[in-house]
Amino acid sequence: MPGSDMPTTVEPTTVEPNTVEPNTVEPTTVEQVSLPFCLAQAMTSAARAAFPEEACGLLSGRREGAWVHVHGVHPVVNAAVTPRTGFAIPPEHRLALTRALRPLGQTVVGHWHSHPGGHGAPSGLDGTLAAESGLVWIIVGVPAPGARALPPRAFLALGPDTAPPDRLRPLPLRPLAPSPLING
Ligand SMILES: [Zn+2]
Repeated sequence: MPGSDMPTTVEPTTVEPNTVEPNTVEPTTVEQVSLPFCLAQAMTSAARAAFPEEACGLLSGRREGAWVHVHGVHPVVNAAVTPRTGFAIPPEHRLALTRALRPLGQTVVGHWHSHPGGHGAPSGLDGTLAAESGLVWIIVGVPAPGARALPPRAFLALGPDTAPPDRLRPLPLRPLAPSPLING
């Protein structure tokens, strides 16, 4: 997924060294993920609606110290050839979202997908594909047709230095409570 086939579209002159995401946060130092309740609901609803196919999307947000804060969930039509058993997010979606987020000081922090008929544990294929270290993977299990989706689970991609299929490490996911204004 890294490495767009459009390298000439990168705009190096717009990226100043002191505005690039600081390197002080190495992927392996990520220890927690925060996820607003409404975003968790958006994922579980989409996962349930997509059944028996896998739903998927990108996650926007910020890294702060050992935290990844998810600020947005961006649905993407699953481009997998067999969407009942896999998911694919075309790289142009990530590229476009990355550009749109830059003025906000945010970036693409990861992606999410669902497991229709399953739970939120990574499949062997997930643990093999997680070759881009530092990305947060969120997985939503939907045990059965019409069933309520399970709470999202988060994982950190460990990258190519870790042998497949163990490239996803569980991360504590802290749901953020709904705002009192929303609750009324
Ligand atoms: Zn999966």
